[in-house]
Parts: sequence; C-alpha cells; structure tokens
Amino acid sequence: MTGKLFFPLVGLLAAATLSAQPASGGYPIDPVPFTSVKVAPDSFWGQRLKASREVTIPLAFSKCESEGRYENFVKAAKQMHSPVNLGYEVKGFSFDDTDVYKTIEGASYVLQTYPDKKLEAYIDSVLVIVAAAQEPDGYLYTARTMNPEHPHEWAGDKRWVNDEELSHELYNLGHMVEAAVAHWQATGKRNFLDIAIRYADCVVREVGAGPGQARVIPGHQIAEMALAKLYLATGEKKYLDEAKFFLDERGKTGHNDEYNQSHVPVLEQDEAVGHAVRAAYMYAGMADVAALTGDRGYIDAIDRIWENIVSKKLYITGGIGATNNGEAFGENYQLPNMSAYCETCAAIGNVYVNYRMFLLHGDAKYYDVLERTLYNGLISGVSLEGDGFFYPNPLESIGQHQRQAWFGCACCPSNICRFIPSVPGYVYAVKDNALYVNLFMPNTMTQKVAGKDVTLTQKTGYPYDGDIEITIDKTALKKEMALKVRIPGWVRGDVVPSDLYSYVDGKHPGYTVTVNGVPVESALGQGYFTITRKWKKGDKVVVHFDLEPRVVKAHVEVNADVGRIAIERGPVVYCAEWPDNPGFSVRSVLMNQEPQFTVKHSDELFGLDKIATKAQTLSFGKDGRLEVKDVDLTLIPYYAWCHRGSGEMAVWLPQDLRATKPSKPATLASTSKIGASTPARSISAVNDQLVPGDESSPYYHWWPKQGGTEWLTYDFAAPATVSRSSVWWFDDQPWGGCSVPKAWRISYKDASGNWVPVEDPSGYPLRKGAACEVRFKPVTTSAVRLEVDLPAELSAGLYEWDVK
Ligand SMILES: [Zn+2]
Repeated sequence: MTGKLFFPLVGLLAAATLSAQPASGGYPIDPVPFTSVKVAPDSFWGQRLKASREVTIPLAFSKCESEGRYENFVKAAKQMHSPVNLGYEVKGFSFDDTDVYKTIEGASYVLQTYPDKKLEAYIDSVLVIVAAAQEPDGYLYTARTMNPEHPHEWAGDKRWVNDEELSHELYNLGHMVEAAVAHWQATGKRNFLDIAIRYADCVVREVGAGPGQARVIPGHQIAEMALAKLYLATGEKKYLDEAKFFLDERGKTGHNDEYNQSHVPVLEQDEAVGHAVRAAYMYAGMADVAALTGDRGYIDAIDRIWENIVSKKLYITGGIGATNNGEAFGENYQLPNMSAYCETCAAIGNVYVNYRMFLLHGDAKYYDVLERTLYNGLISGVSLEGDGFFYPNPLESIGQHQRQAWFGCACCPSNICRFIPSVPGYVYAVKDNALYVNLFMPNTMTQKVAGKDVTLTQKTGYPYDGDIEITIDKTALKKEMALKVRIPGWVRGDVVPSDLYSYVDGKHPGYTVTVNGVPVESALGQGYFTITRKWKKGDKVVVHFDLEPRVVKAHVEVNADVGRIAIERGPVVYCAEWPDNPGFSVRSVLMNQEPQFTVKHSDELFGLDKIATKAQTLSFGKDGRLEVKDVDLTLIPYYAWCHRGSGEMAVWLPQDLRATKPSKPATLASTSKIGASTPARSISAVNDQLVPGDESSPYYHWWPKQGGTEWLTYDFAAPATVSRSSVWWFDDQPWGGCSVPKAWRISYKDASGNWVPVEDPSGYPLRKGAACEVRFKPVTTSAVRLEVDLPAELSAGLYEWDVK
C-alpha cells in the first residue's frame, strides 16, 4: 500500500531537487563549484586551461575514436539487439569505457567557461552511443555486454563476481558518475546523468548485504566518492549508503589484500599502503563519508591515515606512491628520488583527499598539501603544450625519462583531461557568511554567501608574484561577510603540516593585508586571515606575501635525501635540469653551505622564474683524482622539466660531501653505442655507470618475453682490447616477472664481422644482487655481444653491463 504512494513521491522530490544547480550542503563547508569561477585566460592557470581545451581534450577524444573506445559501446549495443552471438572479441582493458567518461568530464568543465555548441553536440552524439550500450536494467559495461558468453577475461562469468579482482565494473560506474554529474552541472542536460543514475540504481539493487545481492567491494576504488557525489546531486541517500557499504565491507570479504587496502576494515587502518591511486580514491571516499555523515569512526580513521601520509609518505612535490612495485606506497620515510613512482593519477587523488579533508575540518593545512601537489607533482604529469604525459613523476633522472604522447593504459592522460579543467572549482569555498579564498589565481567569482549573490575579482601573478588583489564587484549581502584568506604554509614557515620537511635557511618571510589601503591585523585561525565587515561594491583587499627562494631539508629518516637540500619559492619546487646547466652534470653538484640566490624571469617554457646560485661540481679526472670546479647553477620549476629533451634532472641537491656523486670518467662501456635484440628507451640503463647499491639504479628488462635468447651489443668508439665483463642482473622475484637468466655468454666481432665466442671463459656466474664477472683470453675487437638465455617461465633484465 505505502509502496504505491511512496514511489511517485520520491520521483517528485527527486525532480524538484534536480535543477541544473548542484544541491548544496552535505559537507560542513560548501564547495564553490567550477561553474561559479571564471579564470582569466592570460595567466598561469589560463594557459593550462587553454592547453587542456585546445590540445589535451581533443587529443583524448581522437584517441577514444582511433583506439576503438566508442566502437566498444557500438558493439555492445549491436549484440544486445542481436538474436545470435555476434562473436565480438573483447580486447583492451576492462576499464577502457572510462576513457570516454573522463574525457567528457573534462570537456564539460571546459564548456562552462567556453560555451561551444559544436563540442556540446559532439558529446551528445557520444552519449547516444553510450546510452545504446546500456542494458535494460541499467547495467553498463561493454566488456561483458558485447559478448556475454565470452566477456573480457577479467570480467568473470557473472556480473560483479570478479570485481574485487579485475573486472572494474564498479570502477567504470565511478568514473561514469563523476563525469555525468559534471556534465549535468555544466550543461543542465540530464542525458548523461540519467544513464549514470540507471547504472547506479542497478548497482544499488544488485550489490549489497541484502538477500540475493552480490556481497562484493570495488577492486579499484572510486565508486565510493562518486556515489557520495551522486547523493549530493540528487539528494538520494541510498547512494551514500551504498558508498558506505563499499567502505564498511572492505577487509571483511575474504579478499584481504594490502594492494587494494582490503587487508583490514577501513576503520582500523592507520597507514597508507598499497596501490597509491586506489588508496587515494578510497581515502577521498572515506573523507566524503566522514564529512557527509559526521561518523566519528570515519573521521578518526581518515585523520590517522592523512597524518601518516603527510608525516612519512609525501614527496616534497606533493606526489605519493614511492615504488613501481605494485604502483604503491613504500614504507614510512621510504621516498627514493630516481625511482619515485608518484603516478600522476595518485597526485590527482591526493588533491581529492586534501580537498575533502578541508571541507570536513576547514583547516588551511589541507590546502597547503593540495597546493603543493597541484603546482608540482600533478602538473608535471602533463606538458605545458598539453600533449606530453608522464605516468610516473620521478624527482631525479639521468635521461631515462621521456614524456609520452599517450599510453596503452591511458589512466593518467584521461585523468589529466578531467582534472585540469576542474581547477577553478578549488579556488573558493563558503560556510554560512564566510567566504574562503583558498587558491590564488586571477578570476571572477559569483557565488551565494549567506543566501545572497557576491561577485568578486582576484588579480595576481601568483605563483611568481606574492601580491593578490581582491575586489568586491557586487554584493547583495547586507550583513557582515567574513572573507577568509588562506595564509599558505610556505609563508607561515611550514613546508608541510608535519616534520617531514623543514626550512633550514633561517629566513622569516612575512605578509601584509590592507583593506582599501589601510593595514589590517588579525590573528590567524586554522591558517586563515579573516576580515569580517559589511562589504560594499569597490572594496579592495590587497594581500602581500614575501616571496623568496627557500632551502628545505627532509626529516633525517628519509635516507634518499640525507645530506641534500631542495629549493623552493612560494608553492613551487625547483629542480636542476641539464639544458640550463651546460658543461657539467647536475647530478654531480655540491651546493654551498649558505647558498645565495638570484631570481630571473624567463619567457621560456610559457614564462617562469628561474633561480640561479653559485655551486661546485665534483668529478673524477682520468688519473682518478677528484676535481672541483665552480659553476653557476640554474634551477627551474620542477613542473617544467623534460620539455627540452631527455637528460639529467635532480630536485634534491647534495650539500654534504657524503651525498655527492662525483661524475666518473668515461669508460669503454659508457662510450659504446648500444645495440639490442629488443630496443627500448630504458636501454641506456645498461651503460649509465649506476650499479645496484647506487640509490634507485635504473635497469633494462625483456619482460614480457620469456624463454628464448636475447642479445645486447657494444660498438666501441675505437677498437679496444678486452679481457673481462661484468653483469648486474635485475631480479624482482618472488613478486615480479624477472629473475637471473638461465645462461649468458660473451662474444666479440672478428675481422670479418662474425660473432665469435670469447676464449677460455672463467665461467658465467648467475648471482642475484652482485656483480657477475667473466674473465677471458684478451682479444682486440671493435664490438662485443652479450647473449642471454631467458628462463623458460620468466623473463630477465640487467642493471649494468660493463666490459674492460
Ligand atoms: Zn594513471
């Protein structure tokens, strides 16, 4: 009886709630959505938004076409309407649908600021294809629908059963919802939102703790925060309940695994572990549940995990995820530089977490972490032009890193697609009569504060200028408004809100605030300078931050940074890169004990400030003696590295002799030209003179090849006499796919160009973690060859191959 009355009523309420404006409320502090903020085109972020709009997003759409992403939806639709199995082979990744969703999400943010009828029509046409692939009950997962009898190998034989492992059905839901809400906010159209609601309803019906429901958790998190967002958009609490179910159920389903944070129930977790993107998305979902429900257990758990990250697992660039082994967080204080994983997606996840923590607690310290990530380890993931991407974002390089045009697993570029255009949504927030100014960029904002429209303009050259001017353009608010300006941690003397990094130069930068030219004072509360008054049109607030280069040291437990310093200015972390420092190796510098800096503006790289300082370089001469040379060292913002080709780069620079890496004299191997049966960019690792034991030594491997024989050759610059050779094998057993090989041997090129085995070899040792050396009868030759028999069921690789 009640059911008949109840359902139409809910429909009516939902319709009433679903205006084109997002439902406000839910969080203790309200977001000011991207739809309310217009960023000035001619600015630091204006340039990034332009590159996103004109390059990254069109590129992503074209990849969706060329890589068959749309085709998958078409195939699913055709199969659904076919009485017979059409026999589609399900290829690619089981989460390929999300590339389409993420690109639409990014394009939606763009549409808000740059209305574009053609783009809108294009998205609508894509949504027609997406809608056609949706099964009648709402299920939308092309990797199954296009061939239910032989779905994707990761999909499982029934819906949901394999989600905890690999199917990504719930991951696809998450990205769909995120995108659909953005599309609806930007355009006011429901065509995508309705698709997402139908899929979400299907999940709510079929996945849960009730009778007949599949009791599973998302193997890759994101549905948690997406469903929280859908709850905010629709007012339907069932979505928040489902998000909480996914979290509550974690660690209780038997699939207990640190890799995807299901090792223990989430409320018992206190350390960031496992795959860093999954982790960050989950922590964002936990922060959502904490903020939207006020659940004490959730608040305490997410506070503990956040504390662990910022005090033990955060790179100075704001990146997270130390190791490529499982794309994961490392141990506490394990923050290697050259092998730092710092996936671009994880940096985006770190912004999500800290944003929600701010909405929960209202403390500026969360924005300090967010801003650090935003200006450094996140935007480093996309080139200034918008078409070159990093998957990992290391803090040191010897040239083995190169921006890519796209990736087979396109998570990072498509995440950049949706993140960069959403940046305007992070600038402000409101609570009652308080307006938070959290980020600094030139923009105009119109937003309701205490129910009344307020329009203001922000002008600044931040992050290269510490002056910010905020003008009230219009206000309908008759009572007082509290303007809360964030005073960044870097002004207050805190690199991060923990003891993980500290300023060590003894400087004390300050700040000033004036209102209509008159200095004002205020005690800081939670990192905010609050000006409460009745504002009127034309009121002007001028904020000045002292902006100068600062010297940072890491906590002594961070082994990778011992004896080293990093330089930053404002929110921007700097690095030394090869193009600005010709004539010496930036990895061999020794910084002065009290370095002095000069700042120089440059029009290079879309305009930035470089920092110059005096330093020294250390190198071993031919006679083996250490040579010291004075040099002028130039630093650039970390985000701008690797725009001028591959080469050396370092963020942490030695200040103690113990930490220096004097450059070594060239060797026969290091000056040889490398040839290979399987060429790859990483091949430069084999003669880079870095052997295991050097911190995060690069390696080269033949994975996924197994069995068979591979080879490498060294062509010498001039004929040389050789009599021994050493190899350091790469072996990541038991977790990885490489071990020491089955066998190896050395041959040389004879006068007629044939490969001839060396004579009288002393033996070809096969040891893990040590140099494996063979001695042989001296031979004069122009080239040598290393042949490697791969193990039958595994691959092999090497850190270094030396020949003398
Ligand atoms: Zn990624």
